[in-house]
Amino acid sequence: MCIRCPIALHENAARYVTLRQDNFRRIDQVDIVKGNMGWIEVIVGPMFSGKSEELIRRLKRAEIARQRVQIFKPVIDQRYSHSEIVSHSGFELPSEIVTNAMEMFEKVQPRTEVVGIDEGQFLGDGLIDICMRMADAGKRVIVTGLDTDYLGRPFDPMPRLLAVAEEITKLLAICVQCGNPAVHTQRLVASEDLIVVGAAGMYEPRCRRCFEPHLAHERVEANKNAASGKTASSPRPANSSD
Ligand code: ADP
Ligand code: ZN
Repeated sequence: MCIRCPIALHENAARYVTLRQDNFRRIDQVDIVKGNMGWIEVIVGPMFSGKSEELIRRLKRAEIARQRVQIFKPVIDQRYSHSEIVSHSGFELPSEIVTNAMEMFEKVQPRTEVVGIDEGQFLGDGLIDICMRMADAGKRVIVTGLDTDYLGRPFDPMPRLLAVAEEITKLLAICVQCGNPAVHTQRLVASEDLIVVGAAGMYEPRCRRCFEPHLAHERVEANKNAASGKTASSPRPANSSD
Protein backbone atom coordinates (compact mmCIF):
# COMPACT_ATOMS: atom_id res chain seq x y z
CA MET A 1 0.00 0.00 0.00
CA CYS A 2 1.37 3.40 -0.93
CA ILE A 3 2.64 5.30 2.11
CA ARG A 4 2.44 8.64 0.28
CA CYS A 5 -1.33 8.50 -0.16
CA PRO A 6 -2.62 6.87 3.01
CA ILE A 7 -6.25 7.15 2.05
CA ALA A 8 -8.40 4.36 3.43
CA LEU A 9 -9.29 1.71 0.90
CA HIS A 10 -12.98 2.26 1.25
CA GLU A 11 -12.67 6.02 0.76
CA ASN A 12 -10.78 5.57 -2.44
CA ALA A 13 -12.67 2.73 -4.11
CA ALA A 14 -9.16 1.37 -4.04
CA ARG A 15 -7.63 -1.53 -5.85
CA TYR A 16 -5.24 -3.31 -3.56
CA VAL A 17 -2.93 -6.22 -3.77
CA THR A 18 -2.21 -8.60 -0.95
CA LEU A 19 0.97 -10.55 -1.29
CA ARG A 20 1.13 -13.56 0.94
CA GLN A 21 4.05 -15.87 1.18
CA ASP A 22 4.30 -19.27 2.72
CA ASN A 23 7.03 -21.87 2.66
CA PHE A 24 5.89 -23.51 -0.51
CA ARG A 25 4.37 -21.00 -2.86
CA ARG A 26 3.56 -17.38 -3.41
CA ILE A 27 -0.05 -16.37 -3.86
CA ASP A 28 -0.87 -13.03 -5.43
CA GLN A 29 -4.38 -12.10 -4.51
CA VAL A 30 -6.04 -9.11 -6.13
CA ASP A 31 -9.29 -7.73 -4.79
CA ILE A 32 -11.38 -4.79 -5.87
CA VAL A 33 -12.96 -2.89 -3.00
CA LYS A 34 -15.71 -0.48 -3.98
CA GLY A 35 -17.33 2.19 -1.88
CA ASN A 36 -17.65 2.17 1.85
CA MET A 37 -16.75 -1.50 2.25
CA GLY A 38 -15.61 -3.29 5.35
CA TRP A 39 -14.89 -6.98 5.68
CA ILE A 40 -13.97 -9.77 8.10
CA GLU A 41 -10.70 -11.71 8.06
CA VAL A 42 -10.37 -14.72 10.36
CA ILE A 43 -7.11 -16.45 11.33
CA VAL A 44 -7.59 -19.89 12.90
CA GLY A 45 -5.48 -22.88 13.87
CA PRO A 46 -4.23 -24.66 16.98
CA MET A 47 -2.12 -23.06 19.71
CA PHE A 48 1.41 -22.19 18.57
CA SER A 49 0.38 -22.06 14.90
CA GLY A 50 1.27 -18.35 14.59
CA LYS A 51 -2.18 -16.74 14.77
CA SER A 52 -1.07 -13.89 17.04
CA GLU A 53 2.10 -13.39 14.99
CA GLU A 54 0.03 -13.10 11.81
CA LEU A 55 -2.44 -10.72 13.46
CA ILE A 56 0.42 -8.52 14.70
CA ARG A 57 1.99 -8.56 11.21
CA ARG A 58 -1.24 -7.40 9.56
CA LEU A 59 -1.92 -4.74 12.19
CA LYS A 60 1.62 -3.35 12.01
CA ARG A 61 1.26 -3.01 8.25
CA ALA A 62 -2.04 -1.16 8.72
CA GLU A 63 -0.32 1.19 11.18
CA ILE A 64 2.54 1.77 8.73
CA ALA A 65 -0.13 2.73 6.19
CA ARG A 66 -1.36 5.24 8.79
CA GLN A 67 -4.72 3.63 9.19
CA ARG A 68 -6.53 4.04 12.48
CA VAL A 69 -6.19 0.73 14.32
CA GLN A 70 -7.75 -0.55 17.55
CA ILE A 71 -6.72 -3.86 19.09
CA PHE A 72 -8.63 -5.96 21.62
CA LYS A 73 -8.10 -9.09 23.62
CA PRO A 74 -10.36 -10.88 26.12
CA VAL A 75 -9.80 -10.31 29.81
CA ILE A 76 -9.47 -14.06 30.29
CA ASP A 77 -6.25 -14.18 28.31
CA GLN A 78 -3.59 -12.47 30.41
CA ARG A 79 -0.97 -15.19 30.08
CA TYR A 80 1.88 -12.98 28.97
CA SER A 81 0.76 -9.41 29.48
CA HIS A 82 -2.11 -7.44 30.92
CA SER A 83 -2.23 -4.83 28.21
CA GLU A 84 -0.63 -6.29 25.10
CA ILE A 85 -1.33 -9.02 22.61
CA VAL A 86 1.79 -11.17 22.69
CA SER A 87 2.80 -14.07 20.46
CA HIS A 88 4.60 -17.13 21.81
CA SER A 89 7.68 -15.88 19.99
CA GLY A 90 7.59 -12.56 21.87
CA PHE A 91 6.09 -10.10 19.33
CA GLU A 92 3.66 -7.72 20.95
CA LEU A 93 1.28 -4.81 20.34
CA PRO A 94 -0.63 -2.68 22.85
CA SER A 95 -4.27 -3.69 23.17
CA GLU A 96 -7.45 -2.94 25.09
CA ILE A 97 -8.93 -5.58 27.41
CA VAL A 98 -12.61 -6.47 27.16
CA THR A 99 -14.87 -9.00 28.82
CA ASN A 100 -17.18 -9.61 25.86
CA ALA A 101 -17.94 -8.58 22.29
CA MET A 102 -20.48 -5.89 23.22
CA GLU A 103 -18.00 -4.15 25.53
CA MET A 104 -15.52 -4.16 22.66
CA PHE A 105 -18.12 -2.67 20.30
CA GLU A 106 -18.76 0.15 22.74
CA LYS A 107 -15.03 0.97 22.78
CA VAL A 108 -14.63 1.06 19.00
CA GLN A 109 -14.40 4.63 17.79
CA PRO A 110 -16.30 5.74 14.68
CA ARG A 111 -13.07 6.78 12.92
CA THR A 112 -11.31 3.46 13.50
CA GLU A 113 -10.60 1.74 10.20
CA VAL A 114 -9.04 -1.55 11.33
CA VAL A 115 -10.12 -3.61 14.35
CA GLY A 116 -7.83 -6.46 15.50
CA ILE A 117 -9.17 -9.07 17.90
CA ASP A 118 -7.01 -11.80 19.48
CA GLU A 119 -8.40 -15.03 20.98
CA GLY A 120 -11.92 -14.45 19.66
CA GLN A 121 -13.14 -17.80 21.04
CA PHE A 122 -13.22 -16.20 24.50
CA LEU A 123 -15.51 -13.29 23.51
CA GLY A 124 -18.80 -15.17 23.47
CA ASP A 125 -21.62 -15.69 21.02
CA GLY A 126 -22.06 -11.96 20.46
CA LEU A 127 -18.82 -11.90 18.48
CA ILE A 128 -20.46 -12.74 15.15
CA ASP A 129 -23.05 -9.99 15.29
CA ILE A 130 -20.54 -7.39 16.48
CA CYS A 131 -18.03 -8.28 13.75
CA MET A 132 -20.81 -8.08 11.14
CA ARG A 133 -21.89 -4.67 12.41
CA MET A 134 -18.32 -3.34 12.31
CA ALA A 135 -17.76 -4.70 8.79
CA ASP A 136 -21.11 -3.27 7.67
CA ALA A 137 -19.94 0.08 9.05
CA GLY A 138 -16.91 -0.03 6.72
CA LYS A 139 -14.24 -1.40 9.06
CA ARG A 140 -11.68 -4.09 8.32
CA VAL A 141 -12.09 -6.62 11.13
CA ILE A 142 -9.32 -9.16 11.77
CA VAL A 143 -10.01 -11.92 14.31
CA THR A 144 -7.81 -14.77 15.53
CA GLY A 145 -9.06 -17.78 17.45
CA LEU A 146 -8.96 -21.51 18.03
CA ASP A 147 -11.26 -23.26 15.58
CA THR A 148 -11.29 -26.48 17.63
CA ASP A 149 -11.24 -27.20 21.37
CA TYR A 150 -9.15 -29.66 23.40
CA LEU A 151 -11.34 -32.54 22.21
CA GLY A 152 -11.03 -31.54 18.55
CA ARG A 153 -14.61 -30.26 18.37
CA PRO A 154 -15.56 -26.95 16.68
CA PHE A 155 -14.96 -24.19 19.22
CA ASP A 156 -17.90 -21.76 19.30
CA PRO A 157 -18.26 -19.08 18.13
CA MET A 158 -15.29 -19.34 15.71
CA PRO A 159 -16.87 -21.78 13.22
CA ARG A 160 -19.85 -19.46 12.75
CA LEU A 161 -17.51 -16.53 12.27
CA LEU A 162 -15.76 -18.48 9.50
CA ALA A 163 -19.10 -18.82 7.73
CA VAL A 164 -19.58 -15.05 7.45
CA ALA A 165 -15.94 -14.02 6.87
CA GLU A 166 -14.63 -12.69 3.56
CA GLU A 167 -11.20 -14.23 4.11
CA ILE A 168 -10.05 -17.23 6.14
CA THR A 169 -6.48 -18.21 6.98
CA LYS A 170 -5.95 -21.60 8.60
CA LEU A 171 -2.50 -22.02 10.09
CA LEU A 172 -0.77 -25.18 11.31
CA ALA A 173 1.84 -25.66 14.01
CA ILE A 174 4.52 -28.36 14.15
CA CYS A 175 3.53 -31.57 15.95
CA VAL A 176 5.81 -31.83 18.97
CA GLN A 177 5.62 -35.64 18.82
CA CYS A 178 6.51 -36.35 15.20
CA GLY A 179 7.22 -33.08 13.36
CA ASN A 180 4.27 -33.30 10.98
CA PRO A 181 1.85 -30.39 10.48
CA ALA A 182 -0.26 -30.04 13.62
CA VAL A 183 -3.94 -29.14 13.42
CA HIS A 184 -4.86 -29.97 17.04
CA THR A 185 -4.29 -28.42 20.46
CA GLN A 186 -3.42 -31.27 22.83
CA ARG A 187 -4.36 -30.61 26.46
CA LEU A 188 -1.80 -32.12 28.83
CA VAL A 189 -3.34 -31.18 32.16
CA ALA A 190 -6.07 -33.06 34.00
CA SER A 191 -9.17 -30.96 33.42
CA GLU A 192 -12.36 -31.41 31.46
CA ASP A 193 -13.44 -27.76 31.55
CA LEU A 194 -13.91 -26.28 28.09
CA ILE A 195 -11.77 -23.26 28.95
CA VAL A 196 -8.50 -23.76 30.79
CA VAL A 197 -6.22 -20.86 29.95
CA GLY A 198 -2.60 -21.88 29.63
CA ALA A 199 0.39 -22.11 27.34
CA ALA A 200 3.51 -24.25 27.03
CA GLY A 201 3.44 -27.15 29.47
CA MET A 202 -0.36 -27.22 29.58
CA TYR A 203 -0.96 -27.54 25.86
CA GLU A 204 1.05 -28.66 22.86
CA PRO A 205 0.33 -28.80 19.15
CA ARG A 206 -0.17 -32.26 17.65
CA CYS A 207 -1.00 -33.72 14.24
CA ARG A 208 -4.12 -35.81 13.65
CA ARG A 209 -2.16 -39.02 14.18
CA CYS A 210 -0.57 -38.06 17.51
CA PHE A 211 -3.63 -36.22 18.88
CA GLU A 212 -5.09 -37.93 21.98
CA PRO A 213 -8.45 -36.26 22.64
CA HIS A 214 -9.12 -38.40 25.72
CA LEU A 215 -5.79 -37.74 27.42
CA ALA A 216 -7.19 -35.00 29.69
CA HIS A 217 -10.07 -37.29 30.73
CA GLU A 218 -7.66 -40.16 31.43
CA ARG A 219 -5.56 -37.88 33.62
CA VAL A 220 -8.63 -36.74 35.54
CA GLU A 221 -9.53 -40.40 36.15
CA ALA A 222 -5.95 -41.25 37.12
CA ASN A 223 -5.97 -38.41 39.67
CA LYS A 224 -9.28 -39.65 41.09
CA ASN A 225 -7.93 -43.18 41.35
CA ALA A 226 -4.73 -41.98 42.96
CA ALA A 227 -6.76 -39.99 45.49
CA SER A 228 -8.81 -43.06 46.34
CA GLY A 229 -5.72 -45.28 46.61
CA LYS A 230 -6.12 -47.08 43.26
CA THR A 231 -3.92 -46.68 40.21
CA ALA A 232 -5.01 -46.95 36.59
CA SER A 233 -2.20 -49.40 35.88
CA SER A 234 -2.57 -51.53 39.03
CA PRO A 235 -1.56 -55.11 38.36
CA ARG A 236 -4.53 -57.42 37.82
CA PRO A 237 -5.20 -60.16 40.35
CA ALA A 238 -3.49 -63.44 39.47
CA ASN A 239 -6.83 -65.22 39.23
CA SER A 240 -8.28 -62.73 36.79
CA SER A 241 -10.12 -64.71 34.13
CA ASP A 242 -10.30 -62.30 31.18
P1 ADP B 1 -0.80 -18.78 18.34
O1 ADP B 1 -1.33 -17.39 18.43
O2 ADP B 1 -1.38 -19.56 17.17
O3 ADP B 1 -0.89 -19.56 19.64
P2 ADP B 1 1.79 -17.49 18.29
O4 ADP B 1 1.75 -16.50 17.16
O5 ADP B 1 1.55 -16.94 19.67
O6 ADP B 1 0.77 -18.69 17.99
O7 ADP B 1 3.19 -18.26 18.36
C1 ADP B 1 3.77 -18.86 17.22
C2 ADP B 1 5.22 -19.16 17.57
O8 ADP B 1 5.25 -20.21 18.53
C3 ADP B 1 6.06 -19.69 16.44
O9 ADP B 1 6.55 -18.66 15.60
C4 ADP B 1 7.20 -20.37 17.19
O10 ADP B 1 8.19 -19.43 17.53
C5 ADP B 1 6.55 -20.80 18.50
N1 ADP B 1 6.37 -22.24 18.63
C6 ADP B 1 6.65 -22.96 19.76
N2 ADP B 1 6.35 -24.28 19.59
C7 ADP B 1 5.90 -24.41 18.32
C8 ADP B 1 5.44 -25.53 17.53
N3 ADP B 1 5.41 -26.77 18.04
N4 ADP B 1 5.04 -25.30 16.26
C9 ADP B 1 5.10 -24.05 15.76
N5 ADP B 1 5.51 -22.96 16.44
C10 ADP B 1 5.91 -23.11 17.71
ZN1 ZN C 1 2.38 -36.08 15.12
